[in-house]
Amino acid sequence: MAYSIASGSLALSRSVLDRAADRRRDEEWLAKAWADPATQVAVVAKDKLQMTPDRTAVRFLQPGEAPEGIKVFLGIDREAGAGQTADGRAVFAVLVSTEADESYAGLREIGGVLVDREAGIAVNVIGLSNWHAVHTHCANCGEHTEVIEAGHVRHCPACGLSHFPRSDPAIIVLVTDDEDRALLGRNGAWPEGRYSTLAGFVEPGESLEAAVRREVFEETGVVVGTEIEYAGSQPWPLPSSLMLGFYAKASRFDIEVDADEIAEAKWFTREDLRALVEAGTMALPGNISISRRLIEGWYGEELTGSW
Ligand SMILES: [Zn+2]
Repeated sequence: MAYSIASGSLALSRSVLDRAADRRRDEEWLAKAWADPATQVAVVAKDKLQMTPDRTAVRFLQPGEAPEGIKVFLGIDREAGAGQTADGRAVFAVLVSTEADESYAGLREIGGVLVDREAGIAVNVIGLSNWHAVHTHCANCGEHTEVIEAGHVRHCPACGLSHFPRSDPAIIVLVTDDEDRALLGRNGAWPEGRYSTLAGFVEPGESLEAAVRREVFEETGVVVGTEIEYAGSQPWPLPSSLMLGFYAKASRFDIEVDADEIAEAKWFTREDLRALVEAGTMALPGNISISRRLIEGWYGEELTGSW
C-alpha cells in the first residue's frame, strides 16, 4: 500500500495557535489579556464565524468592541509580537446567542479559504460553540450548568460534575483490492455519480482497526484484512467529529451493499476514475475533505472537480 496524504495539505488540520491551556484558570492573566487592545476577539453564532466584508478572513474585534456572549479564551499567537501580556497576542471568541446574519460564514464555505492560523481557530471555536449549545444543562441531574475555565468546561453547581467538550472519533477509509482498485460508495441521499470513501463512527470499546473492518463490511460486504495504515486526521466539528483517515487492503472483494447505509459501492481503477471525472459523470468529495485527500493519495496526484 504505502499511500499517503500530502503532508500539510489537510485543510482544517492546520492549527498554529498555542492553546495555552494553563492560562484558562488564571483569572488575573485573563483579565489583563482582555484589557489589552492588541487582543483579538472572533464572534461566533452557533457554527458560523463573523467574517470580513470580502469573506476571506475572520473578522477580529478588540475586546472593548465585543458583543455580549460566552467568552472563550482560544490561545496565544506567539508570532504576533507581545501585547501587554508579554508573551504574544491573546485570541478569544465570544459565542453570541443571536442568529447568524449574512456577515457570518460556516466551515464548508471558508475552510479552504482561511490561512492556517484562522482555519485552526475556526475548527476549535465552532466545535466549542456546538458543544456549549447543547450542554446548557447537566446530563447527570438536569441543573443549569455554569461556564468555567475560560469557556472550556461547564460545571454543575448542584451535583458538582464537570462537563468537558468532546470529540467523537470516526474512521474514514480508502480500501484497495488485489488489483489496486479503490472501493468508493454512494450514499442513498446523494445524487447519481457522487462517490466517497467509506466512513463511520467508532463504537465504545472498539479499536480503530476494528471500526475500519466493521464499517467496510457493514456497508459493502467487503472484508478488510490485516493491512490497515493510518494516514492522517481532520477535525470536523459539525457537531464534534474527529475524522481518522486510513488506507486498508481488502482480503475478500465481493460487494454486497447494505441499502440502509449506502446505495451503491464499486471498485474503481485509476483509469475509470479519471475518465468519469473528466466526463463530468462522477463527482468527488469536496476539496477541503480528508476523503478527497485519501482518494488523491491513492490516485497519485490532485484531481479536479468536486461536489
Ligand atoms: Zn448536575
